[in-house]
Amino acid sequence: MFVLDSHCDTPSQIHRLRNIGIWNGHGQVDLPKMKKGGVDGAFFALYVPSSLGPEESTAYAMELMADVYDAVGANRDSAAMVTCRQEALEAQAKGLVSIFLGLENGAAIQTSLPLLRLFHRLGVRYMTLTHSDHNDICDSSGPSQPRWGGLSPFGREVVAEMNRLGMLVDVSHISDRSFYDVLECSAKPVVATHSCCRALAGHRRNLTDDMIKALASQGGVVQINFYPVFLDDGFAARLSASGIESVGEAVEAEFIKDPSDPQKREAWYRIEDELASLARPSYRRIADHVDHVVSLVGPDHAGLGSDFDGISVTPDGMEDVSHFSRILDELRHRGYSEGDMAKIAGGNFLRVLG
Ligand SMILES: [Zn+2]
Repeated sequence: MFVLDSHCDTPSQIHRLRNIGIWNGHGQVDLPKMKKGGVDGAFFALYVPSSLGPEESTAYAMELMADVYDAVGANRDSAAMVTCRQEALEAQAKGLVSIFLGLENGAAIQTSLPLLRLFHRLGVRYMTLTHSDHNDICDSSGPSQPRWGGLSPFGREVVAEMNRLGMLVDVSHISDRSFYDVLECSAKPVVATHSCCRALAGHRRNLTDDMIKALASQGGVVQINFYPVFLDDGFAARLSASGIESVGEAVEAEFIKDPSDPQKREAWYRIEDELASLARPSYRRIADHVDHVVSLVGPDHAGLGSDFDGISVTPDGMEDVSHFSRILDELRHRGYSEGDMAKIAGGNFLRVLG
């Protein structure tokens, strides 16, 4: 079995001076925690905020990538950069954690296919087409008013070029119309690297049953996100009633501006503690979403994409990646065969990557 987390925002945290070589009190992901959680590999997402301008977006993605290469390079005895299934299996055999690269937000390629090719050449193996706002590629699920009404003409070229390169198209974050446009355009299976089921939690970022069926019919895979807001409507309501989110955003923005300031860091940790004190859904809720995908389309199209380090609050019992194996224990408890669990743990995603 190869246990893979298809999406975490750890590069942003490395950029905020996290040392992934040691056990961090407050971080959700570092190499010792991955080891403890039985995670053999993870996609580190180069997350580019929608607020950045075009050139800034590219430069920021490159900086994050440099941070990841440096961090993994400083931990050669425990981790390795990988780009394909074979390299990941070789790393696993040597006892190393595999670090893959994904790019979260196509804004980083501006309107340039050469930049897309460069990111691929530098090791990036999937691109999330957009984040919480529309970009030159397609509409996001964030704003209620469309810009393109789905995929833009440039977006169609991007999908075709990603197919040609062998780079996975990630449909997480994009609007429903963009989603169906991508399926129509893509000659290869596509992935949702960190998305939940709308039938279980109404957030518009989640996938409807029809979308899950359409994606699976083309051979793709849905990797369930651990964010309590996407897992559970009750939590989403409690969070929005608490008012912590808006305060938290300002505190986090200060921390991001100056991550070397211990006071700003501590202020952010206090927000995280406050969020954790809300009544949170159990980690078993993640297994409910996996169950739902499996009940719709079978065990070949489900997986796990935590969104750790990009989420300020986690399910109860899944505070960080060191608890990852609990989900597999829960699936085992629910009667999944070892073969099906191996698919969900990472086999499905590696199949599509291949
Ligand atoms: Zn995301």
